[in-house]
Amino acid sequence: MSVCDFCSSPDLPVVHTFPAKDVDYTATRLPGGKTSTVTSVGGWMACARCKELVDAGDRAGLARHCAGEISSRDPAAASVPRYELVHLIEVLHQGFWESRIEKGDEW
Ligand SMILES: [Zn+2]
Repeated sequence: MSVCDFCSSPDLPVVHTFPAKDVDYTATRLPGGKTSTVTSVGGWMACARCKELVDAGDRAGLARHCAGEISSRDPAAASVPRYELVHLIEVLHQGFWESRIEKGDEW
């Protein structure tokens, strides 16, 4: 099953892919003090809620939505202060906003 690349909610079906260039990014200060380098290849799948926020260019709203979704399922993420989690997600999404290719594909 495809899950949203932004909020990874299992409850929100993917409705859209935002094409993007491949991007490497490093996430630091993950829960547990881990650092992770991730290569995001190609497009980012999005649920209806995330698509709406991306289309609106609402970066802060998107990060808050994702923080809520992720911390509702991941106890490690839930133990991180919310503002830190939101910040971390904004850093991850930075790679998306920078590598995004404008035109999207409807599913
Ligand atoms: Zn989503």
